[in-house]
Formats: sequence, structure tokens, C-alpha cells
Amino acid sequence: MSAQLSQQKFVSTPQTEICPACGASSKQASPAWRFANARGETEWLRCNCCRSYFMDGSYSLESEVSHTIQMTWGDAEQGAQLNMFKQRMYKSILAQILKHTEPQGKSLLDVGCAYGGFMQAAASAGFDVNGFDIVPQAIDFVKSHGMTAECCGTMCDFTGAHKKYDVITVLDANIYWPDQATELANIYNRLADGGLLIMRVVDKSWLATVGAGLQKLSPERGRKVLRRAVNDHRFSMPIGSLLELLKKTRFNVVSASPKGALHSDDTSLMVKLSFGIGIALWQTMGVFLAPGAVVIAEKRS
Ligand SMILES: [Zn+2]
Repeated sequence: MSAQLSQQKFVSTPQTEICPACGASSKQASPAWRFANARGETEWLRCNCCRSYFMDGSYSLESEVSHTIQMTWGDAEQGAQLNMFKQRMYKSILAQILKHTEPQGKSLLDVGCAYGGFMQAAASAGFDVNGFDIVPQAIDFVKSHGMTAECCGTMCDFTGAHKKYDVITVLDANIYWPDQATELANIYNRLADGGLLIMRVVDKSWLATVGAGLQKLSPERGRKVLRRAVNDHRFSMPIGSLLELLKKTRFNVVSASPKGALHSDDTSLMVKLSFGIGIALWQTMGVFLAPGAVVIAEKRS
């Protein structure tokens, strides 16, 4: 009874005003589940516009920083180790960028650069690199390795060395944004004409749907699947909806595929298998059931 009452209260007064994935009003969202993960006990909604699941929580940059520094990718020592772990993904992203542009004389901005692993790879290839992240320790680390970076939370707050960038990368970072639609519009404005946006995105919304269904039959098992599906992210967006949003933001979507999104040769066998099956299904049937994808979009000249 009390859970029912609390859910009714929550539906009429969601804490967040918009779906962080697409920007639609959260009044149009439906309750999805409630569970505890790395962020504590949270309510989740499903957006009726973009079919994303999202956490119903207000956003504060300060609390987001406090949360992130407790996670592997926010911690100084482990964050630097992750740079080594993700080399396979960095090389693959770089190879895809190099198919579209020559690095000499080109500027590249890494949004949510963390400890600068990808910046290092892009700088070695010849790009003039910049980055920004919300974690001050990460920015200090990047600077101590001779690269330029700023500590800030949004594209709007980033001042940067260049007015416009030839390439902007967002690798595993969009899922922490409180307002993706605005952020993508600001990225679009900061790209040079003909510039490229490359995103490494997580899409386990299909697994979240499985977890939400399972929770009704076996609450604990359902919650386990949900924790695996959303980790500590703020939203879980189907790849098709992200591509729609990019088109709405005036981007030309060049490609989207789970190919090249695998983080490491040392990734667990289960995740490797999931990518293998996901790539095969995407290429043969256009069905997305992989854990992540690489999306390349272009700002038309
Ligand atoms: Zn939405």
C-alpha cells in the first residue's frame, strides 16, 4: 500500500522536468521501476517519446562529481589504468575517424575526456587535442601529461582553444548528461562545417526491458538484470531513438554499428559474445541487441 501511494505521488510530481535522453517533458513518461544501484535507491521512468528509461532525479554538478570520483573511471589510480584497458576501443575509434579525415592541422575535442586515454591516442595520430571533464583530478592528470583540458560540465561552459572543432568525440559520456538534446545542439554549433561527431554509446535498453518484465515475476532477479542494464547511468536510450535525435539536431548520420565498440581484448567472454551476436544481428537483420555502439555523424558543409 505504501509503495503504491509513493508511486502515485511520484507520478504526479517527477523530480526531473525533462527526459534527459530526448528533452521531452517528463509528464509524458510512465513509471518503470524502483531499485537500488551505485546511486542508491532511485525511481525510473520510461519516456513515451523516445522510449528511453531514465532516472527520476534532479541534477547537481557537485553531487555528480562526488559520485563519479567514487567510481573506477573517476578515481585517479584506476582511471589511469582504464586508459590502458580501453586501448582496443580507442584504436578502433581512431581508425574510423581517420577514414573520414586527415589529422594534420585538425582540432579534436574529447567531451568527458576522463583521464585522457583517447586524447593521448588522438594526439599521437597528429590531432591538435582538447578535452573537458567534470572531475578535477582527471583534468590535473591530463594536464600533467602535456595536454590541454578544462574542468567543466557542459559544452556551453567550455571555453576551449578553438572556436570550432573539426572532430568532437563523446566516448561513454552521454549517459551521464542531464539534457542530451541541448548538449548535442551545442556540440553541433561548436563543430566546423563538415566536422564529425563520434560517439561511443551504451545501449542496453533491450536488457532493461527484459529486467523490467522479469522484476514482476522475480523481483530480485529482475533488479539484478536492471543493475547490469543501467549501471550508474542516468538514462538508457535505444540506438534508433538516438539516431532520430541526431537527425533532429541537423546531423547527417554517417554510420552506427556495434562494430568497434568493444572496450578491450581483456573484456569478459560474456560481453565479447554479446558483441559478436549483436554485430551479426545488426548486420543481417538490423536488430540492435549489443551492449554498445559507435555512431558517426557529420555536420553538413
Ligand atoms: Zn525521451
